[in-house]
Amino acid sequence: PATQQLRLFRTSNTARATFLVNSPNTALDKSILQRYRNLETPANRVQATYLWIDGTGENIRLKDRVLDKVPSSVEDLPDWQYDGSSTYQAHGENSDTTLKPRAIYRDPFKPGKNDVIVLCDTYNADGKPTPSNKRAAFQAAVDKIGDQEPWFGIEQEYTLLDVDGRPFGWPDNGFPAPQGPYYCGVGADRVYARDLVEAHTVACLYAGIDFAGTNAEVMPAQWEYQVGPSNGLKASDDLWVSRYILQRIAEEYGVVVTFDPKPMEGQWNGAGAHTNFSTKAMRAEGGIKAIEAAIEKLSKQHERHIKAYDPKEGKDNERRLVGRLETSSIDKFSWGVANRAVSVRVPRGVATAGKGYFEDRRPSSNCDPYAVCGALVRTCLLNE
Ligand code: ADP
Ligand code: MN
Ligand code: MN
Ligand code: MN
Ligand code: MN
Repeated sequence: PATQQLRLFRTSNTARATFLVNSPNTALDKSILQRYRNLETPANRVQATYLWIDGTGENIRLKDRVLDKVPSSVEDLPDWQYDGSSTYQAHGENSDTTLKPRAIYRDPFKPGKNDVIVLCDTYNADGKPTPSNKRAAFQAAVDKIGDQEPWFGIEQEYTLLDVDGRPFGWPDNGFPAPQGPYYCGVGADRVYARDLVEAHTVACLYAGIDFAGTNAEVMPAQWEYQVGPSNGLKASDDLWVSRYILQRIAEEYGVVVTFDPKPMEGQWNGAGAHTNFSTKAMRAEGGIKAIEAAIEKLSKQHERHIKAYDPKEGKDNERRLVGRLETSSIDKFSWGVANRAVSVRVPRGVATAGKGYFEDRRPSSNCDPYAVCGALVRTCLLNE
C-alpha cells in the first residue's frame, strides 16, 4: 500500500519525505472525488454536515445527513441525535444526546450545490444543555442585555504540526533559528504552509463567516486569523465553524492543527484567542468612558474570567500566561494602552479617538468563545 512505500521513503530522511510519510491522507489522489461531485443528484436532496462540540469542550465532531429540501434557515432543519457515550457526553445506558441546529453556513467542501454546514448545540435526555454546551448560557445572557449591541472580534492563533506532533517544517532534530524573522514574514525559510492559510480564507468567505484577516505569527508554523467584529453570537459561531474548516483543509494537506495554547515550551510564543469587545456606548463619541468602566469591572472578576478562558478552567492558560512572550501573569489583572504584556489592552488608536473597543488578551487559543464572550457580557453588561 501507498503508506508503506512512503514509510520506506522516510529513511531517506528529508523534511519532505517525513511530511509525506506521516499522513496517509496525503497519499490519496484528491482528484478522484471530483468525478463524483460532478454527477447530477436530485435537486431537492441536500447534504447537511451537523457540527457540535464534544465533552472535552474543545474538539469538534460532525456527521452528515441528507435532507429532503433546501433549507433557508435553521428553522427548516430537524433536530438530530447522536451517541453521546462516544463523545464523553453521556453514559452508554442513556446515550442519546440531541443536536439542535443554531446556525447555517454554505459548505465549502461540497461546492456548487446547496449543501450546508449546520452548527448545533447539545442537550441531554432531560432537555438540559450538556455541561460542554456553553452556547445556551451565552444566548441567555445576550437575551437580557437589551439593545447594547455587543460586538466581538476574535483573533484565533494556532500551530501546524506534523502528525508526529512536531511543529510543521521544524527540523526533526534541533530547532529553527530563534524568534524574530517569522511574524508577518515571507520566504521559504520563514513561513510554512501559506497555501493552507489562503485556502482557509477563501473557504471561510464562501461559507459566510465574517472573516477579517490572517497573519503569520511569531513562532514558525504558528498562524493567526481573525473573525468579526460581529454582533452577539455570530463571532463565536463563526469561530467554531472556521476552526472546523481549518482542520478539514489541514486534513487534506496531511497536516495537523493544534489549538494548544503552549505547543512548545521555552522561548517560543504560546497561542491565544485575543477577544476584542465593544458596545454601542463604547463605539459612540466619548466611548472611552464606557471602556474604562468595563475595565474597572473586569479588574474585580479576574478569577471568573481565567476560569472561563480555557477548557480546563485556567490549567491550560497556566502554561501560557507567564508574564513573558507578550503575555501577562495569570495571577493578576492588569491593563494598559498599546501594552501587550497586560490582561486587557486598549489599542493606541482607540485611546487617541476616545472611543472604540478593548482587547482581552487572556483567552487561550483553545478557549470556547461562548464561555469567553459570555463572561464578558456577564461582567461588563449584566454586572453579575
Ligand atoms: P492585534 O493583532 O493588533 O491585536 P488584529 O488586527 O489582529 O489586532 O485584531 C483586531 C480585531 O479587533 C479585528 O479583527 C476585529 O475583529 C476586532 N475589532 C475591530 N473593531 C472592533 C470593535 N469595535 N468591537 C469589537 N471588535 C473589534
Ligand atoms: Mn450507528
Ligand atoms: Mn492579531
Ligand atoms: Mn497574534
Ligand atoms: Mn491581539
